[in-house]
Amino acid sequence: MGRMTATTPRRVLLAAPRGYCAGVDRAVIAVEKALEQYGSPVYVRHEIVHNKYVVQTLEKKGAIFVEETAEVPEGSIVMFSAHGVSPTVHEEAAERKLATIDATCPLVTKVHKEAVRFAQDDFDILLIGHEGHEEVIGTSGEAPEHITLVDGPEDVAAVEVRDPSKVVWLSQTTLSVDETMETVGALKEKFPLLISPPSDDICYATQNRQIAVKQMGADADLVIVVGSKNSSNSVRLVEVALGAGANDAHLVDFADEIDEAWLEGVSTVGVTSGASVPEVLVDGVLAWLSERGFEDVEIVKAAEESITFSLPKELRRDLRAEAAALVEK
Ligand code: SF4
Repeated sequence: MGRMTATTPRRVLLAAPRGYCAGVDRAVIAVEKALEQYGSPVYVRHEIVHNKYVVQTLEKKGAIFVEETAEVPEGSIVMFSAHGVSPTVHEEAAERKLATIDATCPLVTKVHKEAVRFAQDDFDILLIGHEGHEEVIGTSGEAPEHITLVDGPEDVAAVEVRDPSKVVWLSQTTLSVDETMETVGALKEKFPLLISPPSDDICYATQNRQIAVKQMGADADLVIVVGSKNSSNSVRLVEVALGAGANDAHLVDFADEIDEAWLEGVSTVGVTSGASVPEVLVDGVLAWLSERGFEDVEIVKAAEESITFSLPKELRRDLRAEAAALVEK
């Protein structure tokens, strides 16, 4: 970039789609509905979605976030987050006589079902994902004896299977598409008979947000991704932006985390947000940029999204009465 002058054109490229996916929208509405219907407290195991602002807003409305089921008082209502849980968590909840609402995204449930089916057929399952991520812990719990975690191509050399003719790979829903295919390539070299999942495990929302950021990446001097540090798909967007040619890219939860120094010599700023990010936070970033002369906003559209999921069916029941009956038993 040349030196910034008064005439340097300043523009914003705004990715579409960005922000909320159908699974996050459903999970957040599920917490709100549960609070409306059953009153506070409603306990939520883990952050309902990986976004600071969303969690704080729901806390103000009466949701109580806990790390473990054991922290929830007997006879309460507990919701499981969009990332999914292993069967042992359902068992723990039953033991504690909790009424449960499962806000697991249906696209995560789909991967759980694939894991169960391949385990039943006695396959070794190579689960590509990030060690320690909640979704991976939940999926692995469906068939711990059959699942080996592969956290990137560098893990491939150490992977061992019982029978190389009965191996399948599955993945976390929020990975980088390109990096995952690299890992799959390395696995296929080692296990030529490796089979692929019956349909994409990396979800439509993750894929579309990556395609959009790729399209803007080469033209952007700076890409700002709105999202939390523990949000896998948001962190991936920063990596994809840099991989697509952006000079610089940063993840911020809020506009006030943007460093003025990032704008030095910058004429084009790309803006996007992760799948767990409410639009109000993107509006904040656009307002911040506009105050600094980046008023011209151009949409970079990569896909149309029209998917929605129906709310968890448990919300149709009287869970307070059910929890009370469980305790009386
Ligand atoms: S990112 Fe994908 S898998 Fe995760 S909640 Fe959204 S739609 Fe579901």
